[in-house]
Amino acid sequence: MEGNAFEDGCGGHDKDNHKDKADRATNELVMDQRTRMILLKMISRGIVSEVHGAISTGKEANVYGAVMDPLDGSRPIQRAIKIYKTAILVFKDREKYVTGEHRFKRGANKKNNREMVKQWAEKEFRNLKRLHSAGIACPEPLELKSHVLVMEFLGDKRGYAYPRLRDATLPDEGTENPWRAPYIQLLGIMRCLFRVCNLVHADLSEYNILYNKSKLYIIDVSQSVEHEHPRALEFLRMDIKNVGDFFRRQGVDTLQDRAIYDFITA
Ligand code: ADP
Ligand code: MN
Repeated sequence: MEGNAFEDGCGGHDKDNHKDKADRATNELVMDQRTRMILLKMISRGIVSEVHGAISTGKEANVYGAVMDPLDGSRPIQRAIKIYKTAILVFKDREKYVTGEHRFKRGANKKNNREMVKQWAEKEFRNLKRLHSAGIACPEPLELKSHVLVMEFLGDKRGYAYPRLRDATLPDEGTENPWRAPYIQLLGIMRCLFRVCNLVHADLSEYNILYNKSKLYIIDVSQSVEHEHPRALEFLRMDIKNVGDFFRRQGVDTLQDRAIYDFITA
């Protein structure tokens, strides 16, 4: 690889050593040239030091664990990297989340796909920022370059990601259904998301919420829409239904969907 991949690397770093480390970090991960280059630049800038295996491989994106070694020698910091896939057509399905976006209607081709994917990553980055500023627990967004998003890792010190709400085991205190408190917590989050962030998640379910120590973390907000979006309220109803269905299955005595809708929007 040419030296210019590291043109913005920090001074004083041994470039060869750096290159080795970067190559090792990305070698085993099957990635296209562009993605590799973006990661190598991030490594040279010290945003991450090592990229590990996939935490999740999805239809539209893969999420990888990563570690950043601070220059001052303090403890390594875990990070998560979400890399959107560019070579697929599943994004057609997502068109309904974008308003007034006619730039990509010319048909599917490599360049259009890349632009579209870049937009999703950008959207996720912006939405995460909003959630984070509003104090909603979520991964703090750290860095975005094209279709590669670096964020705070939600997991323990050993590198295990927190479980999705779907897979979480809740401590049983014996008296009340343990799922009731997270249910109430989630209603508050949905309300805050709507009223403070101006957003509807639009894919909210037990799959896009992580759980640790009684706390819910909202993830996967690339498809979230502003509440001015023509279909925002439709998406909100869908979110409410998914959430209600899940907690009803856990035996929670849930409120009626209509009441929740009013609570969130009123
Ligand atoms: P997808 O579009 O593939 O559904 P998600 O954003 O939902 O992508 O992430 C997929 C999975 O990756 C999540 O279910 C979660 O297990 C894991 N994950 C995502 N973001 C993080 C993070 N910041 N920290 C730890 N794990 C994460
Ligand atoms: Mn998801």
